[in-house]
Amino acid sequence: MKKHNFSSGPAILPQSVMEEAAKAVVDWNNMGLSILEISHRSKEFTAVIEEAQQLTKELLGISDDYSVLFLTGGASSQFFMTAMNLLGQDETACYIDTGNWSFKAIEEASQFGNIDVIASSKDQKYVYIPKDFSLPTNAKYLHITTNNTVQGTQFHQIPDVNIPIVADMSSDIFSRPIDIEKYGLIYAGAQKNMGPAGTTMVIVRKDLVGKLERDIPTMLDYTTHIKKGSMFNTPPVFPIYVSMLTLRWLKNQGGVKAIEQVNIAKAKMLYDEIDRNSCFRGRVEKDDRSLMNVTFFAETPELEKAFLEVCEQEAISGIKGYRTIGGFRASIYNAMPISSVEHLVKVMQTFEQAQG
Ligand code: PMP
Repeated sequence: MKKHNFSSGPAILPQSVMEEAAKAVVDWNNMGLSILEISHRSKEFTAVIEEAQQLTKELLGISDDYSVLFLTGGASSQFFMTAMNLLGQDETACYIDTGNWSFKAIEEASQFGNIDVIASSKDQKYVYIPKDFSLPTNAKYLHITTNNTVQGTQFHQIPDVNIPIVADMSSDIFSRPIDIEKYGLIYAGAQKNMGPAGTTMVIVRKDLVGKLERDIPTMLDYTTHIKKGSMFNTPPVFPIYVSMLTLRWLKNQGGVKAIEQVNIAKAKMLYDEIDRNSCFRGRVEKDDRSLMNVTFFAETPELEKAFLEVCEQEAISGIKGYRTIGGFRASIYNAMPISSVEHLVKVMQTFEQAQG
């Protein structure tokens, strides 16, 4: 029996995508070959990567001023690649520190220029998104983490600034429409809303790169990958293929506007129950609650332990909170069916009744 998968990532993918991908592993398109054993330069795979790039542009409304790249090295490599490619050693970039991942981005970028952390919610254990800040006049870009996977907060209002935003969208890309004009660069590990682990999407405004005097190793230079359409070296063929299938699936769901409405409905259902149920409480400020990663606590350590056991019995998987935070985290990405959220809510209600 398929479990209700609330994992934060690698995470749930649409069932139809996994079935099609499984078939392609054995025999892709009746070619008598597996997707795993064909050349990345074959016309069949070239069509896949081009479709994935095209679907990304279509779904997010991206013009040809931007390139869509499928890189390796995880979102973690983008923490330094962004600064390495966009920030001169004597230049300044601004960062908003909203959680573990933005903190890591700050640490990595610091090697390549001046990093000005203009706002942080670290003092409050990252339970909110800072909204008051001012930019220094000379900043090259502003880096934000649009959704904080660990803490369960999300920017519901993307800051209005007059410099390009560099955004880590690892855990909310394709979950809602974006205003691409605001962004100089977007990066996202595939393994939450897009596909399996193994590729990282980078959407980059072409005029921003190739401008620094710094020597950049070929593989870490965005211009290399832009020039070669993400085919400078062997790209992660299978993760790109599955990502393409997921983007096709998303288009069939009506695109990002339609999925956003479903995501809002799913999150509301779960947060309403957390607020109503006497056994649980939410972790972060209500206005900044994530639609993707719902973090909450049980009222006592005993209840926490008991509820984890109930989840196990009820085929609910991946709901344990991040190791340094504890409690629960229910990740409800695009592919999470509303029926699984209903199931979790019911289990929470039955749990409350059982406490007497
Ligand atoms: N940024 C965010 C918001 C994340 O949730 C994660 C973890 N998946 C990362 C960056 C790091 O991603 P990766 O493991 O692909 O390096």
